[in-house]
Amino acid sequence: RQEVYRELRKKPSVTKDGVQVDLLMNAGLAVDLPQLAEAGAAGIGLFRTELQFMVASTFPRAEAQERLYRDVLDAARGKPVTFRTIDIGGDKVLPYFKGAIQEENPALGWRAIRLTLDRPGLLRTQIRALLKACGGRELKLMLPMVTELGEVAQAREIIDREVRHLSRFAHHLPTSLKLGAMLEVPSLLFQLDELMKAVDFVSVGSNDLFQFVMAVDRGNTQLSDRFDTLSTPFLRVLKQIADAGARNHTPVTLCGELAGKPISAMALIGLGYRSISMSPASIGPVKAMLTELPLDELQAFFDDNLMAPAHGLPMRALLQAFADDR
Ligand code: PEP
Ligand code: MG
Repeated sequence: RQEVYRELRKKPSVTKDGVQVDLLMNAGLAVDLPQLAEAGAAGIGLFRTELQFMVASTFPRAEAQERLYRDVLDAARGKPVTFRTIDIGGDKVLPYFKGAIQEENPALGWRAIRLTLDRPGLLRTQIRALLKACGGRELKLMLPMVTELGEVAQAREIIDREVRHLSRFAHHLPTSLKLGAMLEVPSLLFQLDELMKAVDFVSVGSNDLFQFVMAVDRGNTQLSDRFDTLSTPFLRVLKQIADAGARNHTPVTLCGELAGKPISAMALIGLGYRSISMSPASIGPVKAMLTELPLDELQAFFDDNLMAPAHGLPMRALLQAFADDR
């Protein structure tokens, strides 16, 4: 298999009927970077910046953050990289963060963009480090756990202020800055067009989105087999997001675990996703599926089944049958 995947790296990332789909990888530490070439990823679709904070015993200094971001971009050699601002809180606790509070529902609590907007010093330091590291290159930045568009506006103000600050001191700025939101909280599903207009791109965090749409704790093993990520309602949600992106000409990617399983990646591509980000080990298997996929047939399959699944069968069974037949 490994041999097959290695051969596949040289092949274009297109479906059997020639539609391009970008397969990106998720990363978070410098040790992940060699995987970019080994896995043959088209770029880094999610760089989890909080990992540097989680492996440290105190807040990483601005210089250390900047150095890491620069190393990531250097390793990417011009391939796109999307950095996510620190996603701490919830299950990602920093023992040295004195401001942390005890919460009954950490997943619904003071985490991610909520926390960093309340501690703007953290966000400012990180943004400044990113702007400096990306001098002369593109900066793609996304915000985790966005619930309201006001949070994007607030983050943008902080970014603009840092840009002004750095240009005053004649720093080399990024050639372009793209700001995206992660779609993980269902409130955004009811303002998709406004969301798509408010940002440069959207990245679906399907791990958290599934948790919140189904009201199921993503870490609870008692429930992990109970609800299906390929269930009809969740697939309809994913389709609405892809459609809203296309309608507004806003790029949409997906960077949760869903992207890494060939059957779910197949479903995503059928629903309209043209860029998905996964763990590096998944790129080979997903690319093997992609190059064999007749996308026109899959689109016809969804036209027939998404609103009315054949014989009332579960969508996963229908998708599996579609894959087996081909
Ligand atoms: C997600 O929620 O799908 C996601 C990519 O973010 P994380 O897994 O880091 O919460
Ligand atoms: Mg998440």
